[in-house]
Amino acid sequence: MSAKTIDGKLLAANLRAEIAEGVARLKAERGFVPGLAVILVGDNPASVSYVTAKEKACAEAGMLSREIRLDADIAEEELLAKIAELNADPAIHGILVQLPLPKGFDEKKVINSIAPDKDVDGFTPVNVGRMMIGEECFLPCTPHGIIKLIEFSGMDLKGRHAVVIGRSNIVGKPVAALLARRETNATVTLCHTGTIDVASFTRQADVVVVAAGRPGTLTGDMLKSGAVVIDVGVNRIPDASRPKGFRLVGDADFESCSAVASAITPVPGGVGPMTITMLLWNTLESAKRR
Ligand code: NAP
Repeated sequence: MSAKTIDGKLLAANLRAEIAEGVARLKAERGFVPGLAVILVGDNPASVSYVTAKEKACAEAGMLSREIRLDADIAEEELLAKIAELNADPAIHGILVQLPLPKGFDEKKVINSIAPDKDVDGFTPVNVGRMMIGEECFLPCTPHGIIKLIEFSGMDLKGRHAVVIGRSNIVGKPVAALLARRETNATVTLCHTGTIDVASFTRQADVVVVAAGRPGTLTGDMLKSGAVVIDVGVNRIPDASRPKGFRLVGDADFESCSAVASAITPVPGGVGPMTITMLLWNTLESAKRR
């Protein structure tokens, strides 16, 4: 079997066109556009490029984006005061603090200070709790994007066995929770470094979501024939032939998995484009709720 590629760029483009229509409708009917505030503390190059990509995506969707850049050495109180100001700003419907924060900041305290009804990343404990008990909330962007990608692959998750590798708070745990929701109705196994024989679980899986942050975590011999593979990992591998001196690979060995799976996401171009798309989705939802 040679797996089809699940084109995250295409799905993201389709959804972003829908979001842009939603923004235009909101503007025409209610006279305002969704506003997203992105706070960047310090100048970590990866964070700068994520923030730039988010602003570009906002502008393309017709949304207002407000970038707040703060020096890495500001006092935490100053950052909390900025968030409080944005919490009260009626033109802002979503607030995102780019993580990781520089050393010395209490990330939990900072994230907890975002008003839950503007927490479009879905990271505050209130949103996570609402998701777990099935209340209206903002779903975390990467896990929500993963569910959309599985649906886009053509797989009906109802009654299927999904194996998630990785139990982080931002990917593994919320993906497992979303897959197990009644409306999705998959049966879920969550693997981590304490799992004895991960392959014995993945070989039973109709879908494998791998979010371990380690290249080669999933190989073709660990898959059942025809499984769908969602590769969340983003890993830099030194590569002198590339202008930047590295290339990006996922957590799945693409070649061997493609030979056994029915569909697989590429890295880059799979999960990555969906994360920002679901952020725009949440920001539009937040604005519509006003
Ligand atoms: P993380 O916080 O480091 O968590 C990794 C998880 O994988 C941990 O739960 C760890 O288990 C588990 N794990 C690691 N190696 C394993 C193995 N060999 N077998 C079984 N479990 C294993 O990482 P994360 O934040 O979830 O991110 C995972 C990957 O996704 C990273 O490459 C990250 O860059 C990428 N990512 C991509 C996007 C995107 O938009 N494309 C978004 C978020 C993350 P323990 O808990 O036992 O340590």
